[in-house]
Amino acid sequence: MKINVRELPGPRSSKILDRNKKYNLGWAKPYPFIQSNEGEGCYFKDIDGNTFLDFSSQIASNPLGYNHPDLLKTLEKYSRATPVKFAGQDFIPIEHQDLIDELTTITPEGIDSAFLINSGAEAVENAMKIAFFNKPTAKHGISFEQAFHGRTLGALSATNSKAVQSTHFPALSFKRLPFDETAPEKLERIIHSENSPDDIGFVIMEPIQGEGGYRPAPERMMKQIRRITTENGIYLILDEVQSGMGRTGKWWAYEHYGIKPDIMTSGKALQVAATMANHGLQTAPGSISSTWGGGGIIDLATGIQIIKSIKTEKLLDNVCKMGKYLSKRLLELSKENSEVTNIRGYGLMTAFDLPGKELRDEFILESLRNGLVILGCGINGVRLIPPYIIEEEQIDQGLEIIEKTLERCRGGYKSEGRIKEFLGCGENVT
Ligand code: PLP
Repeated sequence: MKINVRELPGPRSSKILDRNKKYNLGWAKPYPFIQSNEGEGCYFKDIDGNTFLDFSSQIASNPLGYNHPDLLKTLEKYSRATPVKFAGQDFIPIEHQDLIDELTTITPEGIDSAFLINSGAEAVENAMKIAFFNKPTAKHGISFEQAFHGRTLGALSATNSKAVQSTHFPALSFKRLPFDETAPEKLERIIHSENSPDDIGFVIMEPIQGEGGYRPAPERMMKQIRRITTENGIYLILDEVQSGMGRTGKWWAYEHYGIKPDIMTSGKALQVAATMANHGLQTAPGSISSTWGGGGIIDLATGIQIIKSIKTEKLLDNVCKMGKYLSKRLLELSKENSEVTNIRGYGLMTAFDLPGKELRDEFILESLRNGLVILGCGINGVRLIPPYIIEEEQIDQGLEIIEKTLERCRGGYKSEGRIKEFLGCGENVT
C-alpha cells in the first residue's frame, strides 16, 4: 500500500463525523477520518480511500498491523457461528481457559492466574478489588501523579493525568506519589507517619507512564517501591495495559527493572483485558464478574493468536531492533531540528517532546495530512508506537514525513479549512 491523502476529512467521513459529533455521548475530538477495514501491514485506508502509515497502532492495541494472515485465519474459523459473545464467566467457552493458559506462559513464576474482562479500565478496577478483597483492613490506595489507569470510577480514582478526566466525578480514597526519586521516601511517610501499613491496600503504577507523557519510571524508585510494598504487606499492582504484551521489547515493561508485581493488568494489544495474579488471591464467587468477561470468543481467539504470532515470528526481537533504529534516526533528526527534544522509551514505545502544546497539536494534524498517524501524550509529547512488524523502510518513510512536517509547522503555521476543527485530536487519546 502507498501513502495517499487527498482531503481530510474526506466527503464520506465528513458526513459520519458530523453525526457522530452530535450523537456520540463520549465525543472527544477523534481523528479526522472514518476507518475502513482495508489495510495491510502498517498501512490502512479510511472510507474515502485516504491511505496512511500507522505509527499509532490503534493506540497500542494493534500489534500485528492490518490484516495479518494469522489473524485472518483465526477469523475464518469463527465466521459461521453465533453467538460470538458468550456469558463467559458463567458459560465458559474453551477459548477462555486457552487464553489463561497462553497468557500465563508469558507471566513470571507465581503469576499463574487471570481474570478476563472487557477493557483496560476494568482490568485495573478488578486488580484494585482483588487487592482490597485480600486485605480487608485497607481503606486507601496509592497511585502516582500523572498516572492514567482508565475512566471507570474506581480506575479514575487512581488516574491523575489530566483534570478533565476526573472533574465532576466522585472518587475512592487515594494518596499520590510523585513519579520521581522522591517517591519512596514519601511512600514511607504515608505508610508509617500518616497512616499504618494496615490502612493501605495497594500501590498502583505504570512502569512506563503512557497517557501522562511516556515517562519511564526511574530504576531506583521502582526497586525501592517494590521493596517497601513487600516489607509492609502492601500489594504492588503494575498496570501494563499500554506498556505490556511486548510493546517495549519484553513481554512486560517491568522486566526492564528486574522486579515483579503481585497483581498486574493487561489489555489493548491482548484484545481482551486481564487482571493477573497468583491463584492464592482468588476472590469469593460473585465478588468480581461481568457477563461478557472472558466470553467474546473472537477477541479471546485473536488474543491467543497474537501471543502465538509474537512468539513464532520472534517479534520481540523485531521490536527491540526497530526500536533502536527508530531512536537512532530520531536522535539524528533532532540534531538538525532543535524542536525535537527528550527522545525516550523502550522498544517501540517511543516519544519525544515539541516546544509546546500548540505546536504539538498542529504537528499531529499536519503529519496526518502528510499521511502519517501519530499520537500525543502529556502536554507537549508525541508518541510513535508503530505495529511490531514494522521494517526499517517504513521507519525511514515515517521520519521523512516528520521532518517535512516540522519544516512546515515551525514559525507558527496554522492549519486551515475543515481539518482545523480536529486540532487537538491526538490530545485525548489514551
Ligand atoms: N491503563 C493504562 C496504562 C492505559 O494506558 C489505559 C488506556 O489507555 C487504561 C488503563 C484503560 O484502558 P481502556 O481504555 O481499555 O479502558
